[in-house]
Amino acid sequence: MQHPANENRYNNMLYQRCGRSGIKLPAISLGLWHNFGSVDNFENGKSIIFEAFDKGITHFDLANNYGPEPGSAEENFGKILNKHLKAYRDEMLISTKAGYYMWPGPYGEWGSRKNLLSSLDQSLKRMNLEYVDIFYSHRFDPETPLEETMQALDHAVRQGKALYAGISNYPADKTREAESILRELGTPCLIHQARYSMFERWVEPELLDVLDKRGIGLIAFSPLAQGLLTNRYLKGIPEGSRMTRNHFLKNEHLTPEKLEKIKDLNAIAENRGQSLAQMAIAWLLKDPRVTSVLIGASSVRQLNDNLDSLNNITFDKEELDKIESILSR
Ligand code: NDP
Repeated sequence: MQHPANENRYNNMLYQRCGRSGIKLPAISLGLWHNFGSVDNFENGKSIIFEAFDKGITHFDLANNYGPEPGSAEENFGKILNKHLKAYRDEMLISTKAGYYMWPGPYGEWGSRKNLLSSLDQSLKRMNLEYVDIFYSHRFDPETPLEETMQALDHAVRQGKALYAGISNYPADKTREAESILRELGTPCLIHQARYSMFERWVEPELLDVLDKRGIGLIAFSPLAQGLLTNRYLKGIPEGSRMTRNHFLKNEHLTPEKLEKIKDLNAIAENRGQSLAQMAIAWLLKDPRVTSVLIGASSVRQLNDNLDSLNNITFDKEELDKIESILSR
């Protein structure tokens, strides 16, 4: 049955232009790295996607290897989309990526034309889609000429299998090179997907400036540091949380010093009348160079908590200084 989407879905979301392109992204996008795989509860994932779309989240981010099992997030998303949201395909911006390990042998990962184009075909098949909106090179490959990787993105766009090209996790200098190559090929680099949160600020010294100058949007992933920048771990490690479920977020990440920082940040959030998750998202959106904040959520409740960050995305200097002094301890 088609999902009857909320008629007011565009009323409360903020949409921001992606670099100097024609496309706008929701200030909050939903990523399917976790919580949508074959090991997860399908109905829960479906409810999160419906709620997201009903609240104006138009952008859903995937990759070939999301699951677990790798590929199963695309399969599940495809099922939900084709069964319940097909009528809204043109209202959605769907992305996928290739570059991390996906299949054995020399062609199953990194940045060769062979890997990217075969992987994109597999992704389209898994999602039962004719095209994705954004196709990313998931990581820079030091062993493949950058021209080859960018030509593969350009080719995917020319074939009509992707509408836009993006890069993810590329360092600043390689971002400059990639942008120049893509521009010459006639397929502009739409977007860079990079890890960015109060706890992970590698983009600040150089990359943000490169993106701004070259007219590329930034979508910030793991904005909540996989849940650390929320109230999730304030009182211990709850059963079922990401830290208990997989190796991407380990106990070691939650050192006593980090927990103290989280508690102090939480107090500032409370003073602002926000949850810590909301403040962490708002803190990213205060910078106009951040086009969208790419969250994960394991429940509809978390999703809604995160969406409410849009009620307050401004900070006064005193708040910013306090946050900075906690982060730099
Ligand atoms: P987040 O930092 O937003 O972490 C999401 C997790 O935090 C949730 O699964 C949940 O964990 C917890 N959480 C979320 N909201 C709340 C809340 N309000 N209160 C308490 N806990 C909360 O992002 P992710 O690390 O999930 O990454 C988001 C997306 O970014 C991915 O899905 C993917 O699309 C993209 N990404 C891209 C990468 C790349 O290389 N390009 C790499 C990694 C991510 P719990 O399970 O404990 O409930």
